[in-house]
Amino acid sequence: MNQQDYIALEDQYGAHNYHPLPVVLARGEGAKVWDTDGKEYFDFLSAYSAVNQGHCHPKIVGAMVEQAQTLTLTSRAFHNDQLGKYEKFVCDYFGFDKVLPMNTGAEAVETAIKLARKWAYEVSGIPENEAQIIVCENNFHGRTTTIISFSNDENARRSFGPYTDGFIRIAYDDLDALKAALEANKGRVAGFLVEPIQGEAGVYVPSEGYLKGAKELCEQYGTLFIADEVQTGISRTGKRLAVDHENVKPDILILGKAISGGVYPVSAVLADNAVMNVIKPGQHGSTFGGNPVAAAVAMAALTVAEEENLAERAEELGQKFRSELGKYIKQSQIAKLVRGKGLLNAVVINDHEESDTAWNICMRMAEKGLLAKPTHGNIIRFAPPLVISEQDLMRGVNIITETLKEFEGVAQGHVPMQEVNHPEHVEQV
Ligand SMILES: *Cc1c(COP(=O)(O)O)cnc(C)c1O
Repeated sequence: MNQQDYIALEDQYGAHNYHPLPVVLARGEGAKVWDTDGKEYFDFLSAYSAVNQGHCHPKIVGAMVEQAQTLTLTSRAFHNDQLGKYEKFVCDYFGFDKVLPMNTGAEAVETAIKLARKWAYEVSGIPENEAQIIVCENNFHGRTTTIISFSNDENARRSFGPYTDGFIRIAYDDLDALKAALEANKGRVAGFLVEPIQGEAGVYVPSEGYLKGAKELCEQYGTLFIADEVQTGISRTGKRLAVDHENVKPDILILGKAISGGVYPVSAVLADNAVMNVIKPGQHGSTFGGNPVAAAVAMAALTVAEEENLAERAEELGQKFRSELGKYIKQSQIAKLVRGKGLLNAVVINDHEESDTAWNICMRMAEKGLLAKPTHGNIIRFAPPLVISEQDLMRGVNIITETLKEFEGVAQGHVPMQEVNHPEHVEQV
């Protein structure tokens, strides 16, 4: 079979709920992947930051294989000898009293919403069925019916109603908007759900002090600060968690993706006893959540992140990535700016959101051996595995700049140089 045959199979038998680049991958190791023809690529997406520890990390895969040969699933009807060890490990690692294990990011977000509501009614004294959760414009928290109910991405929402009530959407990176919403809904707000950096929206890094200010407002109004670190967590942004940049401890922490290094679906909700203890037997659960394989894999994946200093690597390599790419972008007409934190970065293409320029750039980069994907039309996210060597990262930067060069001047209706130039070509954050 050639790549076209594999793609044809997906096209005929799979629902068309994604629009992938036409590349069929067959193998991965570290920061590299290979297609079915044996062509090598740098993976600059990392499965949306799930593969922070690199593809097929031997310690993580080893833990999975060993556990899979021993015991895979007991359900939570019985105890198993991995879950408690994992729960202690993950609680110590992130500094919380308790964890509630789930499988996917969206499930963990749903869990956090249920937890916040229950806390609101049973601890905070909000009248039954009146709790509100404040969320942000352009949020991405997953794909369940409730989660898309508070999205403003029409493509994600349209024709999936009726929607779930109980959410108030405010501008991101706007403490005044948060304060106003808390004030206007005093005594009814269970929590503020926020991504410390908006990943899917296009890697929007909020102003310095935003997370700290938001946490303080939540404390002042007696509401829970809920951080969705599914994409930003596990060393991606240069710290274990993105909230660590401002020394903020969320009341509820949501993790997924790289908590398993991308080898198995694992997600987690962490909170202290005052919040987590509202959940009693039978009130929430999942057949696979906290299974022995997930527990063993997550312990290995979190251990690797520490042992290999992935946060420090992300911080250092991220600085280099932005400064090298920034040098080119300074004199580019096709690329407006590079922004991000750690190794979660994006380049904004100087074209309108519906143009296919960013897509075409990604297609060309793939030909040259680098995989990345546009997010929201004219923004390309670059998030290689954190184990990437500096040399390979710079090879990647070369491919990116060589490709951008080919596209200079071809954007539809591009605007003259002086209007393009962002005052800061590199948003140093
Ligand atoms: C990917 C993501 C999710 C959803 O995770 P799934 O595992 O795809 O359900 C939730 N929140 C954020 C911030 C994400 O990036």
